[in-house]
Amino acid sequence: MLYELPEHLTTPEQKERFIANTVRYNGLPCWCWNREWPHSTRLVHYIGGRNYSARRASYCLFVGRIPDGTVILPACKNPLCVRPSHLVVVPKRETKGWWTGYVSM
Ligand SMILES: [Zn+2]
Repeated sequence: MLYELPEHLTTPEQKERFIANTVRYNGLPCWCWNREWPHSTRLVHYIGGRNYSARRASYCLFVGRIPDGTVILPACKNPLCVRPSHLVVVPKRETKGWWTGYVSM
């Protein structure tokens, strides 16, 4: 189960901890999630005793609240990317075909 990150966990310490779980490759501007990869393709961030989707956690930590009925997807189409400036809010019903032409790492 993946939960929405509560606001009381969006501290500077948690932001630093989140960034420590990312890595840059080959000069790519993306922040690639590195915590579980390559063991798992799920991007999960453990914080405050719970698992959160790393993309949703990134958005909550660095941007703000995620509107209901939406998903957080990387505009750069890099499946590992959790960089806040690359993340966009997409209504659930408009996600079809999102990963077409994705960037493989
Ligand atoms: Zn990216």
